Amino acid sequence: MLSLTLRHLIRPLCQHAPRALCTGTRGQHSQAAVPEHPWTGQESLAQDDPEMWELLRREKDRQCRGLELIASENFCSQAALEALGSCLNNKYSEGYPGKRYYGGAEVVDQIELLCQKRALEAFGLDPALWGVNVQPYSGSPANFAAYTSVLQPHDRLMGLDLPDGGHLTHGYMSDVKRISATSIYFESMPYKLNPKTGLINYDQMEVTARFFRPKLIIAGTSAYARLIDYARMKKLCMELNAYLLADMAHISGLVAAGAIPSPFDHADLVTTTTHKSLRGARAGLIFFRKGVHSVDKKGREVHYNLEDRVNFAVFPSLQGGPHNHAIAAVAIALRQATMPMFKDYIAQVMQNAKVMASALLKRGYTLVSGGTDNHLVLVDLRPQGMDGARAERVLELVSITANKNTCPGDKSALTPGGLRLGAPALTSRQFKEADFEKVVEFIDEGFKIALDVKKKTTKLQDFKSYLLEDPETVAKIADLRQRVEAFARPFPMPGFLDH
Ligand SMILES: *Cc1c(COP(=O)(O)O)cnc(C)c1O
Repeated sequence: MLSLTLRHLIRPLCQHAPRALCTGTRGQHSQAAVPEHPWTGQESLAQDDPEMWELLRREKDRQCRGLELIASENFCSQAALEALGSCLNNKYSEGYPGKRYYGGAEVVDQIELLCQKRALEAFGLDPALWGVNVQPYSGSPANFAAYTSVLQPHDRLMGLDLPDGGHLTHGYMSDVKRISATSIYFESMPYKLNPKTGLINYDQMEVTARFFRPKLIIAGTSAYARLIDYARMKKLCMELNAYLLADMAHISGLVAAGAIPSPFDHADLVTTTTHKSLRGARAGLIFFRKGVHSVDKKGREVHYNLEDRVNFAVFPSLQGGPHNHAIAAVAIALRQATMPMFKDYIAQVMQNAKVMASALLKRGYTLVSGGTDNHLVLVDLRPQGMDGARAERVLELVSITANKNTCPGDKSALTPGGLRLGAPALTSRQFKEADFEKVVEFIDEGFKIALDVKKKTTKLQDFKSYLLEDPETVAKIADLRQRVEAFARPFPMPGFLDH
């Protein structure tokens, strides 16, 4: 593994690179390399910065030998990573294609236009009815820009509460503090899940919205295993004369594949990340409606005016120079997302999530909402007398990465009752149904270790120390980890030439 990784990292630049640079120490700067040659910038990472190179090697190794179940993560393609690590990083191009504040933008203009075109194609959108801004640096800045485009400071918005599976940027505030900038600069009111069913409580949302009269309602989730009723939310928005913003960050790959209902049928604005189920580089997109909005009382057409407002909100209001390397890498992923192989990939993601759900249910675990219609499951460990924090820690020690998550009714975000498990990343490593059965077997073993140790300890900190100190537990963890890694390693890894 190491030698293959080394070769891959060095290969692109090594032809012209001078000899290794780390020749000794000087004074107190024991870490600093002293160059033998004038700087050319053509040194490989391994030559230029062995310390950082080693950290990257370790991270690459961690990704290869473990089971990646964080629902928001994925493995980006080699092609997109090449664009991400390219000369496009160097280019300033504030403004938009054809209207830049810098010269030399003829190529990046084409890249941005291509990315826009592919973004519309990936979601089957008519350019007469939808436009897109591809400059947001990530999902959170995309959301803040989208809000800024249609809201004044202190205007009201509603989103799913963070503890119920919403995202921070949907307006989260705690009992004592406004946490998200969305709640600092706008007035946010959450809607909630029905704690009995684990489903979005639309009835309550409607009652609250009629009192609160938001100008914008967000339909989107980060830890919700079911589909969203966009039609019902749009109806509510029409009644209140509010915008419907769909934040499809988690599910945009599923939407692109046509595997779940599209938010574009109902929303005025759609935001997304590009690095989750869509499997691209880390960035954000904002889609906005164009064309006729409605017909007024005198029979005149009223047009959407979102295009200029969204573009102005992203630049110059909130961002500076676009990340052209990311825009190119996103364009590459968007093209991939229009191909038949991507439909197959997403079908497999959803099949694998279903297998994960049924295998967990078969073993007696409880799922929030009872199952899944998308790429993730949310396990409620409270009936086991377990919590997400302890489960997450044990799984981490056996090279299974997942994240603790609140379940409806949870009091603490530090030791919440749930664990979120997603299928996109491992499905990108060609995991099939039988492989996910095996994954659940490993998870179950991990949960049992966690339960056993929880019985013998009190505080979370004691629990964590016990895992590292009790010889019998240490041996059990080492054994499980060894089996997990032996299982995971042979699967192919996107983005790696020689794995
Ligand atoms: C992940 C996520 C975001 C934010 O994306 P970042 O790229 O992490 O800023 C926004 N909304 C939802 C629903 C998400 O799941």
